[in-house]
Amino acid sequence: AKAKSRGTISIFEPEMDQQIRDRRVLHQELSVAIKNGELSLYYQPQAAAGGSVAASQIIGFEALARWHHPVRGCVPPGDFIPLAEESGLIVEMGEWILREACREAASWAIPLQVAVNLSPAQFTHGDLVGLVHSILLETGLTPDRLELEITEGVLIEDFDRGLSLLRRLKALGVRISMDDFGSGYSSLSYLQAFPFDKIKIDRAFVINLGRNPQSAAIVRAVIDLGHGLEMSIVAEGVETEAQLDFLAEEGCDAVQGYLIGRPAPIGQFAALVGGDQLAETVRRAG
Ligand code: C2E
Ligand code: CA
Ligand code: CA
Ligand code: CA
Repeated sequence: AKAKSRGTISIFEPEMDQQIRDRRVLHQELSVAIKNGELSLYYQPQAAAGGSVAASQIIGFEALARWHHPVRGCVPPGDFIPLAEESGLIVEMGEWILREACREAASWAIPLQVAVNLSPAQFTHGDLVGLVHSILLETGLTPDRLELEITEGVLIEDFDRGLSLLRRLKALGVRISMDDFGSGYSSLSYLQAFPFDKIKIDRAFVINLGRNPQSAAIVRAVIDLGHGLEMSIVAEGVETEAQLDFLAEEGCDAVQGYLIGRPAPIGQFAALVGGDQLAETVRRAG
């Protein structure tokens, strides 16, 4: 058995080594990515749920991080955010993301909302409330335009600390969304315990609308539940008119997904955010 397992190891070892080396290199490259200007934000529109795409008014954008690696090209956030979390880089990176999103949103001629994702590490390291406060002052973004998206994983660690942080963030005047609701272990007790303004229904439920009646029942129940708690509801990953139609009819407040728009550099939404931004995009490109 020993010989056999040794044989197995010798077959896979070089590959494993390669993977570990790749990872190490990627870590190093990620640590200079901000300095090198390789990170950017894409924006995905959120719309008030109307009965059709045309009737769905854009109310804001979610900022989504992108890493433009000089050789690998665009590395998806699902690959580099976990890496940044592992290495602690996420704290610095998260600060850059927050500042960049607020700076950009403050320059829009039309005062739409901007939503920024927060990582668990940003909750447990440093002074998040102080950081949000100083970035708002520095960029001039009014607090009611900023929404912070968190997953229940952030709160699972330390209930009291989480609650205190959320309360202090809300005292600044920003809004808090519960992201990916229904995925993982999100439980109803979180909704009761934490002062969320918004629930984002996970894409997994939206995909199955029209495919299985259970998803429709769950989505309907989450909408009613959220409204009962005076929270607004956003459905994620809306890709079809049929999904939009169902959600609008059920009273879902807002939708986000490829049907409304794919994440893109803000320049692509210049017509929505106003002329200043268009001028800025042209100036930068020129
Ligand atoms: P998320 O916060 O749930 O973001 C939504 C993801 O769903 C985005 O993927 C978006 O591109 C994708 N999406 C939106 N509409 C549709 C649709 O209609 N169909 C499908 N198939 N997908 C759709 P993305 O940009 O790859 O981001 C993945 C995840 O990475 C995010 O999930 C979030 O958890 C994380 N992430 C992205 N940017 C940041 C960031 O700046 N900070 C932190 N901490 N995490 C981020
Ligand atoms: Ca309809
Ligand atoms: Ca999100
Ligand atoms: Ca989400």
